[in-house]
Amino acid sequence: MTFKDLGLAEPILKAVEAEGYTSPTPIQQQAIPILLKGKDLLGVAQTGTGKTAAFGIPILHHLYRSQNGQQGKRKIKALIVTPTRELAIQIGESLTAYGKHTGLRNTVIFGGVKQGKQVNTLRNGVDILIATPGRLLDLMGQGFITFRDLEFVVLDEADQMLDMGFIHDIKKIIAQLPPKRQSLFFSATMPKTIVELSQKMLGDFERVTI
Ligand code: AMP
Repeated sequence: MTFKDLGLAEPILKAVEAEGYTSPTPIQQQAIPILLKGKDLLGVAQTGTGKTAAFGIPILHHLYRSQNGQQGKRKIKALIVTPTRELAIQIGESLTAYGKHTGLRNTVIFGGVKQGKQVNTLRNGVDILIATPGRLLDLMGQGFITFRDLEFVVLDEADQMLDMGFIHDIKKIIAQLPPKRQSLFFSATMPKTIVELSQKMLGDFERVTI
């Protein structure tokens, strides 16, 4: 199977090729068609499997196809929540690479630094927001972030977020998202709390295990 067989938009195919990816990894082969159909996804997969492209590429594809004629300030249409600053930065870099010909913008927010620059970038408008839970809730609470136009939410490394004590933050964040959305849930392991959280967050979903 090739990326072309997946029916992806030309600017994304071009970027994936420039990354040197010749064929989709197993999780990409399974997840991309499910996500392009608009279904929710439960992915039991670890970092290193090509997970970022598995969720990032279909999101970029959809947002690219639906942005034609978009006017005014960009609204956040996809939110990716991930446990650490390092993972957030890595996801941001990957999405920038996969989306470099789409005109879509992403930004990354995390704690431990002053919020000024992050707030300014948000004010200018982004299509995709990648965030760690604490700083995200903080900026939401201050009114710098609205999810009125949100179409996608990705919970990345859910079990690690649980281990780091983020479960309440995650529940608070999810409670503030529009119910009509596509939800993606990734975890390397599936302990009971994570199964329950995924059931709360996902609608009619398909499961992919790598
Ligand atoms: P991830 O699991 O998303 O952290 O990705 C792990 C590594 O695999 C990253 O260095 C990606 O650039 C790389 N990668 C992702 N998809 C592919 C692919 N289809 N072909 C080759 N490398 C890939």
